[in-house]
Amino acid sequence: MLVLGIESTAHTFGVAIIDDNLNILSDIRRVYSPKRTLGIDPKEAAEHHSQIAAYAVKEALEKANITYRDLSAVAYAMGPGMGPCLRIGATIARFISEYFRVPLYPVHHGLGHVELTSQMLGLEDPLILLISGGHTSILGFSEGRWRVYGETLDITLGNLLDMFAREAGIPFPGGPKIEELASKGSRLIEMPYTIKGNNMVYSGLLTYAISILNKYPLEDICYSLQETAFSILVEATERALVQLNKREIGITGGVASNTYLFNMVRKMADEHNVHVARLESKYNADNAVQIAIVGLLYKKTGHPPVGAEKAIVKQRYRIEEVEIPWRQ
Ligand code: ATP
Repeated sequence: MLVLGIESTAHTFGVAIIDDNLNILSDIRRVYSPKRTLGIDPKEAAEHHSQIAAYAVKEALEKANITYRDLSAVAYAMGPGMGPCLRIGATIARFISEYFRVPLYPVHHGLGHVELTSQMLGLEDPLILLISGGHTSILGFSEGRWRVYGETLDITLGNLLDMFAREAGIPFPGGPKIEELASKGSRLIEMPYTIKGNNMVYSGLLTYAISILNKYPLEDICYSLQETAFSILVEATERALVQLNKREIGITGGVASNTYLFNMVRKMADEHNVHVARLESKYNADNAVQIAIVGLLYKKTGHPPVGAEKAIVKQRYRIEEVEIPWRQ
């Protein structure tokens, strides 16, 4: 069984082909870099995707050494994401499905992060931290769906880092540079620490960190920003872990590449004898392998594919809306 996945929710246009043993036969990524410093311009990103899409699909097929006729299914990221970007991926997927008569599966992008991490790491019933520019959620599987046991009430962790970076003159994406600067900081500056129930609130922290930009060394601000933002997340995660009695934690999404955060979560988990894992960095960021994996799971469980008229995109799309037929 060969499944082609297409990712186009934001900055990355990705095409990947996997087989039913989860072997990755190709994983093509074309990443749009914003021309302006204000972050991603959806129209500009969509223009980038539309220009390279056909070549990326061709390259993915060539690399996998197959043709369209060998495909068992095509899956695309349905949302959440930026409308103009999502529509490019959906259009290409519809064309492949209709023209070559291949079953078509729309996929929730966050579910792609979650299942790629769970399946590749062999996690059976994990608590998942999905932390990126689009999500900051603590997820667990229950009664047929991935449920949210804690999430940001305002901006995401990725937004917090990228928006602070922009004000500090650090180019997008800000997370990696902030991690590097933070490793050179040592002074902990007290910053707003807001947690409501099991939910995170980051906008006050962002405003405060920006307001002290010229008052302290940037390294110390980055160190304190990370320490505060990550502690809020770890506190909420620990609570969910104990409430749900999970034995494994999987961390995914672009911010999962942050080793300081990974070690904070691991330290907390060690105290509960809980296993913590993440994939190598390139699979934490947006990619099409994660979309192909969900397509494969749908196909394997006999989930009905959709016709082209139902292959829509959803800019706002919560993970609890998705029924999961392959988990008990
Ligand atoms: P989503 O996957 O939910 O649609 P996204 O489109 O922003 O979100 P990702 O590639 O998963 O895509 O995540 C990008 C985010 O990860 C950016 O906010 C970036 O700053 C952050 N990031 C990347 N590397 C690191 C790092 N080492 N430390 C902290 N943040 C990081």
